[in-house]
Amino acid sequence: MSMDSFLPLSASRLKSYLNCPKAFRYRYKDRLPEAFLSIEAFAGRLVHEIISEISLRGREGERPPRLMAVLEELQRRWADGLRKGQSIRVVRRDHPRKYLARASRALENYYWANRPFKPVGEEVYEKEILFELVDDVSVRGFIDKLVVRPNGDVEIHDYKTGMRRAKKMLPRGLGGDLQSGLYSLGLSTIFPKATITCHWHFLLYKEEVRAEVTQDQTNEVKERALELLKEIRSSTWKASPTVLCHWCGFNDRCQEGKRWMEKRAL
Ligand code: SF4
Repeated sequence: MSMDSFLPLSASRLKSYLNCPKAFRYRYKDRLPEAFLSIEAFAGRLVHEIISEISLRGREGERPPRLMAVLEELQRRWADGLRKGQSIRVVRRDHPRKYLARASRALENYYWANRPFKPVGEEVYEKEILFELVDDVSVRGFIDKLVVRPNGDVEIHDYKTGMRRAKKMLPRGLGGDLQSGLYSLGLSTIFPKATITCHWHFLLYKEEVRAEVTQDQTNEVKERALELLKEIRSSTWKASPTVLCHWCGFNDRCQEGKRWMEKRAL
């Protein structure tokens, strides 16, 4: 049995390592608690939660909620979270209202694009997948929405709530998105004959990008994940300070991050 404490792998773990090995070590090896959650992550979490709930109602044949009720629910959870969550931090010098307005816009765009939320096949939100990359190394992930069409084809839907646009986030399509690549790899073992398509929804911009997954791409993703695993296993956990230090929940204990932020305030 593998003794790697950072397993199972996941796209967020690999991305965390790529961003900064030292933060990866704090988070997944030493399992230290993070001092705060950024308001962007908090907003994304709430939008995903509500999307999943309203779509579940559609799947169960209930009447869709009114948009006003959806937005009020967001506001209620938002106020609740900020009240309870002393650890939610606004990193940029913006007012929290700006983030709430953005989260509302993302939900509203989702609402009009999907109303009346009738499923087009078998649909599962926040679908957990767990598969073996190689012996003793498993990968785990949660797909925002997985659709299995009546003809057996499979769709992976990923809802983006941030400000970054498709051309920045997906410069190489699937090849540039480790997360969808890993999901496709896992699903190709469960649905070996299906055509798998990735759909990225950039909710703030009402933009959807689709790409059909090829065998070459899943092979490429597997190789990339294995290379990273090798790197992680022999890592010296070097700090890699960047602008992301401002959002890092360990920046109160990391000297390299502190020095970097002193020189480059936001
Ligand atoms: S503060 Fe910056 S350098 Fe330090 S662990 Fe976090 S991301 Fe890495």
